[in-house]
Amino acid sequence: MSRFFALPARLNKTFSGINLLAPLALALSFSVSCSSRITKDTIVSADSSHFVSVKKVSPTIQTEMRYFGFNNFVGRPIAGYKSATCYLTREAAFGLLRVQQELEKDGLSLRVYDCYRPQKAVDDFIAWSKNPNDQKTKAEFYPNVDKSKVFELGYVASRSGHTRGSTVDLTLVNLKNENAPLDMGTPYDFFSPRSATADPSVIGVARENRDRLKSLMEKHGFKNYEKEWWHFTLNDEPYPNIYFDFNIEEKY
Ligand SMILES: [Zn+2]
Repeated sequence: MSRFFALPARLNKTFSGINLLAPLALALSFSVSCSSRITKDTIVSADSSHFVSVKKVSPTIQTEMRYFGFNNFVGRPIAGYKSATCYLTREAAFGLLRVQQELEKDGLSLRVYDCYRPQKAVDDFIAWSKNPNDQKTKAEFYPNVDKSKVFELGYVASRSGHTRGSTVDLTLVNLKNENAPLDMGTPYDFFSPRSATADPSVIGVARENRDRLKSLMEKHGFKNYEKEWWHFTLNDEPYPNIYFDFNIEEKY
């Protein structure tokens, strides 16, 4: 309980300058205690004021927002994705800027596939996983996985780091070869043990590329998720207990 009651103080700190939000945050924290799907050390916020468009921080970072369109494991746009915009906390966006500056010296660039992800999008994934009749993307994204198991196998989470705004999915592309993505051993969002960053079956150039991405992201303050070579979270994320749920729209 003490952890729960400590949250409003943190919110007052993190939302400094937005004094009107303090009572709102307090009210939200109490409503959280009544919700069965939210644990007592988390809070949901609709506030987007501490988020930035990555394109505005680092215009050369390439974006291919998969959940805005149809090329994803669900096979359609996901709830909450109203524009193809990569939003992250300022801290995470500036971390990516430093990675990008280093990559460009070598003729490479980041390409992001997903950034901030609204809670309603995660809820959309959960609903999808419970519908066994919809298997249209199985061959491409999860040929060897029962879709009802994607949560327990760790490929999709009911509480995603993306929803906290400091987690990003990305790869490397070659600026000198028509922006072609580098070989990482699997495509993005391929639900397979082979997507695990250290999977021993990934060798040669793909191994070098994975290791390069991981070491560069680590150098600039991000931590890799061991089951997905593409998924990184800022070590010092500013909102470790806050799950956001504002729509992704161009206006932010
Ligand atoms: Zn991810």
